[in-house]
Amino acid sequence: MAVVEPIAVLHEEMTGWRRDLHAHPELGFEEQRTSDFVAAQLQAFGIEVHRGIGRTGVVGVLRAGSARRGIGLRADMDCLPIQEENTFGYKSKHSGRMHACGHDGHTTMLLGTAKYLAATKNFDGTVNFIFQPAEEGLGGAKAMVADGLFRRFPCEAIFGMHNRPGMPLGHFAVRSGPMMAGGAFFDIDIEGRGAHGARPEAGVDSVLVAAHVTAALQSIVARNVRPVDTAVLSVTQIHGGNAYNVIPQTARLSGTVRAFSNEVMELIGRNLARVAEGVAAGFGAKAKSDFRVIFPPTVNDPREADYAAGICAEIVGAERVKRDPALIMASEDFSFMLNEVPGCYINIGNGDGTDGGGACEVHNPAYDFNDKALPYGASFFARLVEKRLART
Ligand SMILES: [Zn+2]
Ligand SMILES: [Zn+2]
Repeated sequence: MAVVEPIAVLHEEMTGWRRDLHAHPELGFEEQRTSDFVAAQLQAFGIEVHRGIGRTGVVGVLRAGSARRGIGLRADMDCLPIQEENTFGYKSKHSGRMHACGHDGHTTMLLGTAKYLAATKNFDGTVNFIFQPAEEGLGGAKAMVADGLFRRFPCEAIFGMHNRPGMPLGHFAVRSGPMMAGGAFFDIDIEGRGAHGARPEAGVDSVLVAAHVTAALQSIVARNVRPVDTAVLSVTQIHGGNAYNVIPQTARLSGTVRAFSNEVMELIGRNLARVAEGVAAGFGAKAKSDFRVIFPPTVNDPREADYAAGICAEIVGAERVKRDPALIMASEDFSFMLNEVPGCYINIGNGDGTDGGGACEVHNPAYDFNDKALPYGASFFARLVEKRLART
């Protein structure tokens, strides 16, 4: 078994879409032209189109047969605020905007699948094609979920994929359980009592408290999190004072936490508040903490991961499907959807540089999605639908 043949035939057309999207990148929640393009294509394929879900999000609904089951396939559409350094003909026409994460490729693969499935309809049930905005830190998936995505378009499972530079073309990686870290940001405001720098006995030194809180926070991962759970806490900013001879009244610590389960993330948030307040109180100061989970961890349902890996193996052979890739410390906002519906997020090889590039890291000004990966990704989604919603 290899790529789905009618999809291979769409390769040239998909490459055209991908390069057009690449030349016209748009930031999160500004995907006007992109969502117009997606909606127009879906309509042309004869697919029912719903717009404005999560602001610039688009959902295409394709039904076949009589089964009431539905699944979701998701692609992201936004670009990054990066000035492209590539010089090829389809380089970004928008200054300071670039598809440097390959979301142009993800959108194109899902459109290719949509075109194929709308023409063949060799399944029984409903496919929801979910084109989400604002993956790069602005919460596009969260916005779609808040707009009733899964209430309006019920899905028994949801699947998405991200390209991975350096992984050979025609290869997939599928991990069960936690796959990418969740991320939180925090601020801790410390209030002491300002005083003259030469008269510390008259004040409560917020700078000294901030230093002790910073050190004590490192005990959380070391002493509160189970050693078998992976997590990291980094204090990345300390602000306080602006004169040589003033002990400042206040100081602020800020930083980030990464963890692979919601439980560990909550545990760290709770302990962070306790440690900050307790240490500050020991010095006669007050601490107030604000802990914000920006992305939940991306956790694949083990059953759906096995299922997805089986589909990948049908397309490229089991030897090209990596089942135990390393945990990824970066975050992914598909996690908001996986929090609602079981599913799986997989990686697709963007090339290792030996066969037409693809090895440049994402978020780099020289990155480009590898068009040779398009038929593999589109075939994965197509086979998944035809097998999961097989006609009986
Ligand atoms: Zn990215
Ligand atoms: Zn990305």
